Amino acid sequence: MGLKSRLDLVEDAIRSACHSVGRDRASVTLVAVSKTVDIEQIQAAYDLGIRHFGESRLQEALPKIEALPSDIIWHYIGRIQTNKARRIAESFSVIHAIDEQKQLEFLSKADRPIDGLISVNLDRESQKSGVFTENLDELVKSVIQCNSVRFRGLMTIGRATTDIEESRTLFRTLAEQGALVGAEWLSMGMTADFAVAIQEGSTHIRVGSAIFGDRA
Ligand SMILES: *Cc1c(COP(=O)(O)O)cnc(C)c1O
Repeated sequence: MGLKSRLDLVEDAIRSACHSVGRDRASVTLVAVSKTVDIEQIQAAYDLGIRHFGESRLQEALPKIEALPSDIIWHYIGRIQTNKARRIAESFSVIHAIDEQKQLEFLSKADRPIDGLISVNLDRESQKSGVFTENLDELVKSVIQCNSVRFRGLMTIGRATTDIEESRTLFRTLAEQGALVGAEWLSMGMTADFAVAIQEGSTHIRVGSAIFGDRA
C-alpha cells in the first residue's frame, strides 16, 4: 500500500472516531511520527497535506528540519536529555515529554519559547518515561513558572497490549488529570490505539507506522 492510501485510511479512522463521540475533526491534530523515515518520504507526506511531524531523536531530526519546508511544525516526542534540551527548544515547536524539573532550566537556555506537555507514567511501567501522578502538580507549577515553556497539557503512552480497553482506561485517566491541571492539549494515541484516544479526548495523536509503514 502506498503512502496516500495509508494516509487516507488514517484520515478515515480519525473522522469516524470523531464522529462516534460527536467531536469536530478540527479538534484533533495528526502528528505524523517520522522517526527512521527518510526526507523524501516526509516530503511526500507534506505534499499530501501533512504539516505536523514528530521525531524522537535530535541528531536524526536536525538534517530533516534543515532540508524540509519551514512551515512544518516539528514535535519532539522523545526523551529529553538535558545536554540536548537547548538545541531541542531551538529546533522544535512543541515538546511532548517533559518529565523532570531540571529539563526546564536547559530548555530555558534557548532564546525562544516552546509549547510543552508533561508526560505522565500512569501505569508505572518501568520502561516508560513520565512523571508519576503524585508528582504531577509540582511539575505543572514549575512549567507554568518557566518563561520559556508554555504549558499546554499532558502526554501519555498507552499499553503495549492487544486489549485496547486497557489503553482506553489510561487515556481516560489522563483526561481526568488534564482537567485537574488545566491542560488544553492531550497528546495520546499511536497507531494501535489512536481511535480510542480520540474517543477519550486526545487533541494530538502521534501516528507513525500506520502512515509510513512498519519501521525496520
Ligand atoms: C514511535 C512513537 C510513536 C508512533 O508509534 P506508531 O506505533 O508507529 O504509531 C508515537 N509516540 C511515541 C512517543 C513514539 O516514540
